[in-house]
Amino acid sequence: MMSRNALLPTPLGTVKPAAMAQSSQAGADLASLPERIAVVQLSVNPSYDARIIASGLEQAALLLGRQLTAAVIESRYFRDIEDAGRGCYELSELLERPGAIDDFGRDLRLRLPPGVGALLLPPILGRHGQSLAAKLSQLLGGLPCWEILSSAPSMPGIRLQESLDSALIRAGIPIVESEVGCASPGSGVFTLQGGDSIQPAAAVLATGKFIGGGIVRAQRFREPVLDLPLFAGSRRAEDQYIGDLLAEKVQGEHQAFRVGVRIDSSLRPLGPLGEPFDPRLFAAGSVISGYDPAADKTGLGVAIFTGYLAGETAASLVLLAR
Ligand SMILES: Cc1cc2nc3c(=O)[nH]c(=O)nc-3n(C[C@H](O)[C@H](O)[C@H](O)COP(=O)(O)OP(=O)(O)OC[C@H]3O[C@@H](n4cnc5c(N)ncnc54)[C@H](O)[C@@H]3O)c2cc1C
Repeated sequence: MMSRNALLPTPLGTVKPAAMAQSSQAGADLASLPERIAVVQLSVNPSYDARIIASGLEQAALLLGRQLTAAVIESRYFRDIEDAGRGCYELSELLERPGAIDDFGRDLRLRLPPGVGALLLPPILGRHGQSLAAKLSQLLGGLPCWEILSSAPSMPGIRLQESLDSALIRAGIPIVESEVGCASPGSGVFTLQGGDSIQPAAAVLATGKFIGGGIVRAQRFREPVLDLPLFAGSRRAEDQYIGDLLAEKVQGEHQAFRVGVRIDSSLRPLGPLGEPFDPRLFAAGSVISGYDPAADKTGLGVAIFTGYLAGETAASLVLLAR
């Protein structure tokens, strides 16, 4: 978490304001990068173009009123692997092999132009980005090394998932991965794959919207786990003509993409009569109605914030039940 928004480089050549970043990425903040930097191009990676990133950074720096020169250096380190089309997250795993970061560092050292004050890399620095960044920096005579942000699927995403999982394990919370269904309405019992079931003291419904599968539409809108009532604005979302829930213009407010469950101020989904469906059930993320995660730039921000709040409230119920 940072005290002000950092402007972090994206693979598209833009910068993304971010209040939170992984430690191997936070130092790539455009406002604090030195005047001369280099951006690494991997000769085998067609999906990552260092030239776009370098020129995007130079232009964005001008808008900030500062000078920045970004050179592109090409590393041939990965050239010998059999599949040149591998994504950054796969290359990242290769860099974790014993000795790989030393060889990569030696390759980069040959190509670094003089006077460069920081090096930006694709997000390939393994499962523990900060330690490989520090090692690389050491190999390059103390040159700060940072990763740019990643497109999906990404190693930073895997790092985040693994650190969330290990926080759960440290707290003694078992992790069960399964498609979840409802045993019977109102029972608080959830079915798991393989015939098992689970009756948690509290639950957070965070099943997403249309892509995640938390809301489906086949003739009618449906919340598949608990059959919760769905809303588009103030209207029930049922089997109405989809066109009635779409705006005239592409950039208009499309209610169909805002469909979800309604919640009370404690994030409890509401039942058909407007009362909490179950006092032990909470909702988080895009399964909640009223915002369009794809269009209004609230996507992951709302998911993280409501997930945090719902998780805290659900956990406090569990502690009370002990
Ligand atoms: C291509 C694309 C790019 C995006 N880019 C951005 C971006 O740059 N910034 C941003 O802020 N937002 C972005 N978004 C939006 C963002 O991804 C979503 O808002 C966010 O992922 C919603 O999080 P969620 O946890 O609510 O749902 P999801 O991320 O959809 O997660 C729901 C999870 O629940 C699981 N699930 C569903 N039903 C069940 C079940 N019955 N049992 C067990 N598991 C189940 C699903 O498999 C899924 O893993 C983007 C979305 C897309 C599609």
